[in-house]
Amino acid sequence: SRAYNFSAGPAALPEPVLEQARDELLEWKGERASVMEVSHRGKAFVAMAEESEADLRTLLAVPDDYAVLFLQGGATQQFAQIPLNIATPGQAADYLVTGAWGQKAVSEAKPYVNARIAASTEEGRFTDVPDADSWSVDPAAAYLHYTPNETIHGVEFHALPDSGDVPLVGDFSSTILSRPVDVSKFGIIYAGAQKNIGPSGLVLMVIRRELMERSGQARAKILNFAAQAKEGSMLNTPPTLSWYLAGLVFKWLREQGGLEAMAKRNQAKADLLYAAIDNSGGFYRNPVAPRARSWMNVPFTLKDAALDSAFLKESEAAGLLALKGHRAVGGMRASIYNAMPIEGVKALVDFMADFARRNG
Ligand code: PLP
Repeated sequence: SRAYNFSAGPAALPEPVLEQARDELLEWKGERASVMEVSHRGKAFVAMAEESEADLRTLLAVPDDYAVLFLQGGATQQFAQIPLNIATPGQAADYLVTGAWGQKAVSEAKPYVNARIAASTEEGRFTDVPDADSWSVDPAAAYLHYTPNETIHGVEFHALPDSGDVPLVGDFSSTILSRPVDVSKFGIIYAGAQKNIGPSGLVLMVIRRELMERSGQARAKILNFAAQAKEGSMLNTPPTLSWYLAGLVFKWLREQGGLEAMAKRNQAKADLLYAAIDNSGGFYRNPVAPRARSWMNVPFTLKDAALDSAFLKESEAAGLLALKGHRAVGGMRASIYNAMPIEGVKALVDFMADFARRNG
């Protein structure tokens, strides 16, 4: 039987999605073959691709002057591909750095742009977001990049940062589709799929069309956003199975009531877990400032690190998987993405209370 999976990614997928995929695995849409065995240029696949984009546009209320791309190479490739497309060589580009992924975005962009850290919370060990008035954006910058949710440090922006007149670029990998977002405030929203969308490898991008008219830098066609948009994200063979699964997840989200409904659920799940940590009499501790606590990734330490291995062993035996924290932060981390039901979080907090009682 399936356990509750708290992995940070690749992460749990909604069970009804996996069940449908299982049922359709051998024969998909009357094609007498599976979705991964048919041409991506055939009628059935193209129809599925169009439907998935339409569902995504509905979910995120994507305005018409934005393109939706289904790319490859993970979110990491976008750390480089975005400057290649929307900045000239050596142009200034500003970054808000609130954790390890923001740091990586900076270092991967450096061969292409003059990456400037407009604000960083590293000094406080990435336990907060910067104050809204603590940075200024270089008006000549190609964009302002930030990480709305830092997966490792469990730090989330609960308000949009001001990017002045410069396009705002967000790495939404671990918070995409967890709540509504005003797309019109962004130049680019991008996300690796493996948390809230589907299998890894696929990258979803929502990009303001006018940004694709920028000359950018010398690059192969496969790295060119405008060329991808023109070809319906099928310049080459796309990851067909991942795309199909993403499409099923979008339909599942619409059935759940869309992103308003997901936001309510995700907040309730996060509230329950943070309350369990805060009310544990110091047995558990989350280091993040309350205003920046993530709804998706909740790191916490135990009062004595010597108890970590017992906690992990016993939680796994209780059907609560993948709670080990990232080595950069230590302790535990519970990732509670869209597919985690409130029952899973209840099971976790019950286990935590029981473990604290026995070891306190
Ligand atoms: N950005 C964030 C916020 C992440 O959590 C991750 C991790 O999975 C990445 C980027 C890297 O994604 P990928 O492994 O798809 O390149």
